Amino acid sequence: MLNQELAMKIDNRYEGANPRLPGDMVELSPNHWRLHPWSEDGDGNYKFCLNVKAVNDTKAIQALILEVEWADSEYMDCRDYLFIGRDEDWTFVPGRLEGTRSIIEMQIPPGQWYLSMHPVYDLPNFEEDRRRAIANGFQESVIGRSQGGREIVALSCGREASPAIFVVCRFHPYETAGSFCVSEMLRMLGQQMAQNDPILEKFRLVLVPMTNPDGVASGCCKRTQRGGPDICHVGTDCQDMAGQALAELLAAVKPAGYIDLHGWMYRNHDGMNWSNDDQYQELLSVLDGDPVFNKKWKGIPLAEYPDRKGDFALGAWRDHQASVFVISPSWFDRTVADMRHFGKTLLKSICAIIPGQ
Ligand SMILES: [Zn+2]
Repeated sequence: MLNQELAMKIDNRYEGANPRLPGDMVELSPNHWRLHPWSEDGDGNYKFCLNVKAVNDTKAIQALILEVEWADSEYMDCRDYLFIGRDEDWTFVPGRLEGTRSIIEMQIPPGQWYLSMHPVYDLPNFEEDRRRAIANGFQESVIGRSQGGREIVALSCGREASPAIFVVCRFHPYETAGSFCVSEMLRMLGQQMAQNDPILEKFRLVLVPMTNPDGVASGCCKRTQRGGPDICHVGTDCQDMAGQALAELLAAVKPAGYIDLHGWMYRNHDGMNWSNDDQYQELLSVLDGDPVFNKKWKGIPLAEYPDRKGDFALGAWRDHQASVFVISPSWFDRTVADMRHFGKTLLKSICAIIPGQ
């Protein structure tokens, strides 16, 4: 039996953590915890957010058993693992399922480590990317504020007169895959801004990497807060301040291309929805053979989308005739480096097939 001094602590006292309440983290014994993840609307289809820190203040590796009570039976097949790590280094730890619980046994090295369903990309990660992008020459504009008062930030580069590619990400807070893709797009564009980059010769890029900062800060799964909207589908037609700011920017930018990065839980498929069938086929053939794009694609054309009035992707397509790609990469069997490669390759490929002037 380990004494109290050797006990592992689980910390959720930071923005982005889920579960959020002390009562949702139960210490069963010093190295055995039960967690009850939180969802703002109870939708099991998006309840894939777990984000806590394991704190091992000793000098020895500590065993830890986590029981995660998801309170949803429908999507348990997606929840038989966790990632442990920090920054760019993450390890996939398989677990086992018992009813609506996943049981994960792991070894925790000394120090503080995130335990999460996905490699973590929270608001501090975005602030770091934002600082680096500005240092690399991106123009920043704060296009508005969220209901919670957080800045909605657009970063742009390229010639003002060029047709625009509008990149948005992180409408759904648990979907960190998209954030690592956009983080790498910012790095690539920042490095190449001084050169004759084929993307910037052809297009202006306007990126809003963090469209739902309130939801990310609160550890939400899909919405901005409890009772808040799912902005990507209703944002141009709702009272939410972040949605309105994005709708105004979309109308001002009038993009030629619209890329919306998400993420999802399918293991053997990446997601794509598209506006133009020929461009879709061309993109598939351009990406074919790249070792990171090794999953099948799953998705539908926008023409088959449910007709939601405030949907940003539909608005970009119908109001501005933009070439739209809504992309949901899967984390399964991929590293952060893979996801970064996914993001920059996707941007280069889409910019190669969308017509310029
Ligand atoms: Zn999504």
